[in-house]
Amino acid sequence: MNLIDKIKGLAADQFEDSVAIRRHLHANPELSFHEHETSAFVVEKLTEMGLKPEHGIAGTGVVALIEGRNPSKKVVGLRADMDALPIFEANDISYKSKNEGVMHACGHDVHTTSLLGTAKILTALKDEFEGTVKLVFQPAEEKAPGGASIMIKEGVLENPRPNGMLGQHVAPNIPVGKIGFREGMYMASTDEIYLTVKGQGGHGAAPDQCIDPILVASHIIVALQQIVSRNRKPTNPSVLTFGKIVGLGATNVIPNEVKIDGTFRNMNEEWREKGLGLIKKMAETMAESMGATCQFEVIRGYPYLENNPELTRKIRKAAEAYMGKENVVDLDLWMAGEDFAFYSQVVDSCFYRLGTRNEAKGIVSGVHTPTFNVDENAIEIGMGLMAWNAVSELANN
Ligand SMILES: [Zn+2]
Ligand SMILES: [Zn+2]
Repeated sequence: MNLIDKIKGLAADQFEDSVAIRRHLHANPELSFHEHETSAFVVEKLTEMGLKPEHGIAGTGVVALIEGRNPSKKVVGLRADMDALPIFEANDISYKSKNEGVMHACGHDVHTTSLLGTAKILTALKDEFEGTVKLVFQPAEEKAPGGASIMIKEGVLENPRPNGMLGQHVAPNIPVGKIGFREGMYMASTDEIYLTVKGQGGHGAAPDQCIDPILVASHIIVALQQIVSRNRKPTNPSVLTFGKIVGLGATNVIPNEVKIDGTFRNMNEEWREKGLGLIKKMAETMAESMGATCQFEVIRGYPYLENNPELTRKIRKAAEAYMGKENVVDLDLWMAGEDFAFYSQVVDSCFYRLGTRNEAKGIVSGVHTPTFNVDENAIEIGMGLMAWNAVSELANN
């Protein structure tokens, strides 16, 4: 039997156990940086497979190596995130979240389950491939500064250093049975912007005796919208959105200050820095020209996610062999953030999407919604494909 069929067979054998694991994780979700039980569960499962997991990296992170023949030949890293979101689950299912207000609404239960399944397949086949697979179970994808950035600081990309990193994420907009790829820039850097406009409050009937921060804030918002349209290269994706403005005056009260919160998202690190500088300067000088002040604060999020084109082409080819060419689709740019981006800034990386949608079963809700769910058949595909992608990449020169 060839390797691809062996992997498919092992994934099918493992499927029922994997669904049970996924339901266990789904029912017991934990928030970012608090994945203690999940992490202990992962360690237990890896130990049962005969692996020697190292835990406690970035708090709850777990790393384990599966060594094939000639283990130093090449190293491929496989990443799964383990955290859930602060959402009240609205699904009526037997494995509904038991941890009220916390929900696996981004499919990280599926990612953790799939990588455990992949580990099981690869340990069974370790005499059939050369090189080493590094399993990375990380905390806190959903919360800045991101579990990936801390794991990297704590050395996850060293000893041994992966030649490439692969990550797989559920996709509720792609039908189960299909996989999506995109070469090059894929997801955005995410920075949070907080502006505080300070004026001088007073009676709404006496604006001449005030410095109206509502008016100043309005000018700032309109002016800042021209930064992306006039200063950024048109072929370079960039979004500036202000989703919150708070000025607590009244119909007849001019307030002292107005707060404006927004997000700045990009796919180019140079423009990201330049854009942040322009936003700061324009907000400050616009306020100053109107007699007010504007404080600029930025909380830096994840960098943009770059899918190494050469690695992505190779993994896509492997996926086509596993899934059939007709089941591999192109992904659009997506201006959301993803902390897998940190790995992509250090080593060649490929982040692809696992279809989980099933309209016939009513599984259509988006990630981060209270009714999000997946077609669990995706787990069998996810774990087998990840195993196949890893051994294919190890075999590539
Ligand atoms: Zn998410
Ligand atoms: Zn996610």
